[in-house]
Amino acid sequence: MMKKDLTFIGMKGSAVRADQNLLNLTGAKLKVDGVFGPKTKTAALKFQELHGLYGDGVIGPITRYELMFYKYPHFNKEEFKCHCGGRYCSGYPVQVKEALLVLLEEIRKACGNKPVTINRGISCTKHNATIPGAAKDSQHIYGTAADITVPGISDKELDQICLRLNPNGGVGISYGRHTHIDARGVKARW
Ligand SMILES: [Zn+2]
Repeated sequence: MMKKDLTFIGMKGSAVRADQNLLNLTGAKLKVDGVFGPKTKTAALKFQELHGLYGDGVIGPITRYELMFYKYPHFNKEEFKCHCGGRYCSGYPVQVKEALLVLLEEIRKACGNKPVTINRGISCTKHNATIPGAAKDSQHIYGTAADITVPGISDKELDQICLRLNPNGGVGISYGRHTHIDARGVKARW
């Protein structure tokens, strides 16, 4: 963990401002002034306590990851948990990448705000290896992929929405199962 990823009491600047905005999404009523003072620390501690995080009032990658989900209110961390059931990993071997959440919110909106079902989010490397037909270097290992269905939207329709909304990522069409999407950063189709 690099020090530049942390914000804490006494710090000033745009990183603090960004974290204050995130804390405000959780119900804190901070003045977004870019100054990490006692009120910001109290809000950070309160958030950490609420989420079972180490309570030091310092905002680093782990706390910020929990905060990030408040920007994407229709999805939560648990939906992306590895399906190995604790056999090989804690369920969260990597973090879900923000670009995937952005894409999922866009897809949900394009589906008339119908809830998106995450059939598979993160897979740890060992669990991924047990999935028939899964690519060895699957995007699910990196927290960039989700296999989705949307109740009320046909598979074909969902495929088309994903193809349209994800020009710079991966789309694997459903074949009657689920549509794979990923935010790998380059176009991929299958
Ligand atoms: Zn696992």
